[in-house]
Amino acid sequence: MSEPQLSLVFIGLGSNLEHPVTQIKKARVAINRLERVQEVAFSSLYQSSPMGDKDQPDYINAVMAVNTNLKPIDLLRRLQQIENQQGRVREGERWTARTLDLDILLYGDQHIDIPDLLIPHYGIADRTFVLYPLYEIAPKLDIPGFGHISDLIAKIPFDGLEKMTT
Ligand code: ATP
Ligand code: MG
Ligand code: MG
Repeated sequence: MSEPQLSLVFIGLGSNLEHPVTQIKKARVAINRLERVQEVAFSSLYQSSPMGDKDQPDYINAVMAVNTNLKPIDLLRRLQQIENQQGRVREGERWTARTLDLDILLYGDQHIDIPDLLIPHYGIADRTFVLYPLYEIAPKLDIPGFGHISDLIAKIPFDGLEKMTT
């Protein structure tokens, strides 16, 4: 059987607990160690204000582009293993403080809607901390169902976000 073709996949990384910058850097290494996954690009780190409960630390975010021929659901499972290895505790509520969040933002130009996995990620077009790092590494991107990234960026101010220099 032939191997599935490589797809360009964008992963959103976020952390606001237990040394977030270190968490993001460790996650980058762990993703690079996955079989059948190769890094193509990694954005700067950005500091962002929390969504949801404001009574939690600021986040560190980044976006990573990889080439992979893992199936989307297999990639999700491996990313969830990395979240768990880095101490992610899953509680009922979304957007609570966490050591690591790894979301699949885009998988090639595919639209995927299966149990446990919606791609493009539903928040891609209105989250500053996703759009700006994504734009940094893929300024010509067309997001299926959402449009050109430069048009999306133009609608969202750089509010609550700070690009880090290290
Ligand atoms: P949000 O999805 O709003 O960013 P979150 O990242 O905090 O919130 P999680 O607790 O990490 O949410 O994930 C909740 C569920 O989202 C997971 O069980 C996973 O199956 C599902 N999910 C659906 N689509 C995706 C995707 N594109 N990437 C990652 N998880 C996804
Ligand atoms: Mg998330
Ligand atoms: Mg998530």
